[in-house]
Formats: sequence, C-alpha cells, structure tokens
Amino acid sequence: MPVEARKGALICDRCYRSLRRHLEDAADLIGHLRSIADPTKAAVYDRVSTGGSRPDIPAPVSADLIDSSNDIMKTLREWALRVQFPDQGWRAMGLEAGIDAAAAYDDAAGCADVILADFERLVNTVDVKLLGDAVLTRHDLRAPVPWWSVADGLARWSLEDNRARWATTPCPDCGSKTVLVMPPRRVGMSARYACKSCAFDKTDRDDGGFWAEAFAEEIPEAKPLPHDPRRLTLTQAAKLVGRTTGTVRGWVKSGDLTGEMGRYWEADVQAVAAQRRGEGVAA
Ligand SMILES: [Zn+2]
Ligand SMILES: [Zn+2]
Repeated sequence: MPVEARKGALICDRCYRSLRRHLEDAADLIGHLRSIADPTKAAVYDRVSTGGSRPDIPAPVSADLIDSSNDIMKTLREWALRVQFPDQGWRAMGLEAGIDAAAAYDDAAGCADVILADFERLVNTVDVKLLGDAVLTRHDLRAPVPWWSVADGLARWSLEDNRARWATTPCPDCGSKTVLVMPPRRVGMSARYACKSCAFDKTDRDDGGFWAEAFAEEIPEAKPLPHDPRRLTLTQAAKLVGRTTGTVRGWVKSGDLTGEMGRYWEADVQAVAAQRRGEGVAA
C-alpha cells in the first residue's frame, strides 16, 4: 500500500523528517570524518604532496573515510548549486585533499544551509526524489559501496554526541523521569529537553538558559563553546579582521589559527591578524 505523501510534499512524512535531519547532520559528519581522517589536525596530504622537510610519516587513512567525506561533500555541493542556479549545468567537486576538519565543516554547513533554506520548496518538486536518493540511500556496508550517501556515513560513523538520551533529572512539571535530552543537531542550534509524559518542552535558550543549567549533567560532553558569540565562523572571522575567508583559511591551514568544528576564538583571530600586519605579510 502506498504511503500517503506529506501535505504539500511529494514524499511521505517519515522521509521528509529523515531527509531534513540527515541534511542537518551532514556538516557535523563531514567535520567528524575529516577530524578522524586527520588526527594530527595538520594537513597530512600537503605534507605528502610537497615532500616537505618534515620527517613525519602520515598516519594511514582509511579509504572509506576519504571516499565517504568526498562523496557526501559532492552531494552537498551539487545540491547547493542546483538550488541556487537551477537552470545551469553544475559539476560539483569533492573535498579538497588536505582540507582540515574546521574548513570542511564550514563548507559543508554552508551548502546544507542553502539546501535547508529552500527545503520546503524542494520537497514539492520532482527533484526531491533525487535528493532523497543521494542522502538516504542505504548500501550494505559489509561490502565496498559504489558511493556513500549521508545515511551510509551516519550509519558507519555515528555522531555519538548528537544522540538523544533520557535525563536522570525528573521533569520539573510532572516529576516523571521521562525527559528526553536532545543535544544540538549541529553547531549553532539549540539543545532541547522534552518530557514524554507531559507538555514540558524547553530549549537551552529558554528562560535565560535556565534549563541548560538544570540538565547540564545530562550532556557531559556538552560544550558551551558553540553558543559563545566570541566563537566565530570562518566568514565572521574574516569580516572581523577585514580579510577574505581564503586568507583566514590559509591561517588555519598553516597552523597559525586553530579552531574547532569550524569555529574560531575572536581573540585568536585578532592576534593572528595583528601578527600578520606586524610582519608586513600581505596575505
Ligand atoms: Zn517515505
Ligand atoms: Zn513531564
């Protein structure tokens, strides 16, 4: 029996939610894949290709890590281009060799944002079937896969930090221990605390951040960092010091600026910019 399509969409409700969630998770996945592919956080491939003076032997990197981050990035870029320039031919490229986790995350998040911003329209076009295939196709991961979907990547390397869990703290409204703690789906989004027994449903931003405190113990690895306004995206960092994103990315690549998951401390950015000015370095 055919499943009823979601109202105003060509796919069913379940696929709609699944597709949306996978797109929201895609950038975190890319960042995660790059950070495990590149444990030193240095540009392993650059070192190989330039045959530089450093004697370090690059850690072996699983081909799956490279292939999956490459395929998923291609999907994101292709769809971001399709959404922005529907009438043009597009040929999206995979991940640049040696790109670090932060820059890869930034890039992927930018693409996912473009797609998600147009999501409600997209799900009502025939394109949604193609997008659904690219994102949700599940291959048998016990054998080499022909290509990696976002769902394949998430199945193979789960984003543990993003898993919802039951709070040990009882619900402040009904007293049941049935509050589900849902960490932010991605950097910049809210954590959510929802009781399954009553209508209690709050985010970490509600009531001046009170609930984030109340349920803090539930997310031990929760970093207050992503919500700190002094943590900047690559674009914000570039704007702050009046440079291009390419320049700031160069600082990241050269190791002068270190960030985490595509965010950089405001003070670090300013320090590197000041240092570069002092040295009279053009870029
Ligand atoms: Zn469906
Ligand atoms: Zn409750």
